[in-house]
This record gives sequence, structure tokens and C-alpha cells, in this order.
Amino acid sequence: MSVERTFSMIKPDAVAAGQVGEILAMIEQAGFKIVGLRMIRMTEKQAQGFYAVHREKPFFAGLVKFMTEGPILVMALEREDAVRKWREVMGATNPANAAEGTVRKRFASSIERNCVHGSDAPETAAVELGFFFSAADLL
Ligand code: UDP
Ligand code: MG
Repeated sequence: MSVERTFSMIKPDAVAAGQVGEILAMIEQAGFKIVGLRMIRMTEKQAQGFYAVHREKPFFAGLVKFMTEGPILVMALEREDAVRKWREVMGATNPANAAEGTVRKRFASSIERNCVHGSDAPETAAVELGFFFSAADLL
């Protein structure tokens, strides 16, 4: 397994609840190096574009509304096997199914308001990193 990068977000629910510090600590404790980080507020167009793969889903409009309700953190995370490992540390999409000790188990309040994002494959990570970071932004 080689060192790779994944894309992550801390979503508006967790930023509003003051959970950024604890989530960043969990990320670092899991052995990730934070190689890019910015706080932004997504526009409706950005959220629709970022989640375009879900545009036909019944939850799409609600998801776009949620993701634009307040500021978020966008991050590039580096580690061996980063994509798979960050999804493991995040926990299942629905916090009801998330394993003990995962970020979503600790902080998520619903399947929608689930506090963090992580790319689902290396190819997706490359696209998602490019959505928010230019090469010059990343260490
Ligand atoms: N989501 C939702 N309702 C659902 C499934 C997903 O509101 O039934 C939201 C949730 O915020 C999730 C995001 O849509 O994180 C993207 O869904 P995906 O299936 O890609 O989950 P993830 O990869 O984030 O675990
Ligand atoms: Mg996903």
C-alpha cells in the first residue's frame, strides 16, 4: 500500500456545533497528515456540482440545502491507504450503523447531517481534490 491522498470535509452541522477541533484531533490521531485545509461556504451551484452523482436521489435537494447552510472545512488528507482508512475512521453514512469510536458515531445526528465527507475511491478523491484545491495549494 502506498501513500495516497483523499478529500475530506467537515460539514456545516459539525462546524456550527464547535466539533472542528475534536474531529481534526481524530484525523491526526489516525495518522493522517493534513496537506491542505480551507474554510469556505459552498454556493448552491458548488454543492449541486460536487454532489452531481446524487442528483436523481430523493435526498438531493435536502443535501444541497444542508451543505450550503453554513461554513465548512475542505481538506486534503495524506496517509497510507488514505481513501479506505478515512472512510473507516468516518464510519457508516447512517450514524445508526456507524461503528463505535468513529467520527459519525460520535458526532452525526442523522443520515443527512453526518458531520464529515470522505471520497469513496482514489479516482473520486482526485476529482474531489481538484474541485476545491489547485496543485499549488497543496503541500
Ligand atoms: N445522504 C442523505 N440521505 C441519504 C443518503 C445520503 O441525506 O439517504 C447525504 C449524507 O449527507 C451523505 C451524502 O448525502 O453523506 C452523500 O451520500 P453518500 O451515499 O455518498 O454517503 P457518504 O459517501 O457520504 O457516506
Ligand atoms: Mg459518497
